[in-house]
Amino acid sequence: MAEDAKSRQQHLMRQRRVAKLKKMIIATIIAGLVLPIVLCIVLFVRVASMQSEITQLKRSLQELKEQISQFQQSDETSDESADTGWENAEIPQDAVMSDAAQVLDVTGKKQVYLTFDDGPSVYTDQILDICKQYQVKVTFFVVGKTGETNETILRRIVDEGHSLGMHSYSHKYNEIYASQEAFRTDFLALQTYLEEVTGVKPMIARFPGGSSNSVSKVPMEQFIACYNEEQIKYFDWNVSCGDATGQPISAQEVASNVLMHIDEHNTSVVLMHDGADKLATVEALPVIIEALQARDDVVILPITEDTIPIQHIKAESVTGEN
Ligand code: ZN
Repeated sequence: MAEDAKSRQQHLMRQRRVAKLKKMIIATIIAGLVLPIVLCIVLFVRVASMQSEITQLKRSLQELKEQISQFQQSDETSDESADTGWENAEIPQDAVMSDAAQVLDVTGKKQVYLTFDDGPSVYTDQILDICKQYQVKVTFFVVGKTGETNETILRRIVDEGHSLGMHSYSHKYNEIYASQEAFRTDFLALQTYLEEVTGVKPMIARFPGGSSNSVSKVPMEQFIACYNEEQIKYFDWNVSCGDATGQPISAQEVASNVLMHIDEHNTSVVLMHDGADKLATVEALPVIIEALQARDDVVILPITEDTIPIQHIKAESVTGEN
């Protein structure tokens, strides 16, 4: 009997051990299955969230690319290093310029011609608004920017009584200054375009880099001759607002660069730029105009075909001028 009881007890214990072992095996199997599944789920969630982040980033990148290309299109010229450097070049102190610069207005006032190169830009409307507010007429030497927005701006320039001049269609120094033929093709394309858009055939111009630029390998006299043939009068400048050095400049500096040089001449042709990176120039404009209008010996005028030009290099003969 005692034997029986002992063996039953042993059997029971074995059964318990087996049961325990079974539980452990099942637990191990479950752990082995569940853990990878949980890990998989966690990974899946993370991958999904990363994918959505990537999609978001791709979208942002695309938007950024579009913005950059829009910016480049709207202002492909003003960030050209050549322009930045040469239109801010030293102003040669030659006789042609100082003669013209000493002519007084019929009323005996100093004449100031504010000129804007490289437009239209995102700021042209603002420049026009400021001019309207102060009842001032200025001069725009524009490039060949097409499209509805630019055409509307070009028409506004003319409609509001400002002077529209040419600054080359492409503004690419290496192309326009390659030969007389290339130069002529470029400016005639711009002249035709501007006349088609505004109804006015522009007869005044400014060379990219000015007539004194040293970028052109072909002597500038050859291009001056092209303008002379077409009776186009070109204008350089004798005051620079300094907005094209490539260095950041404040509105205050732009304004003082202009105002401190006005008294050096009786006729000042002021070089300024109308470009997407020229906000300081726009902000300086009211300061400049207010300071000039506060003086009774200064008059702000738009350049016309009759304006005696300020030229760094003398034209052979332009509409009877010597
Ligand atoms: Zn320019």
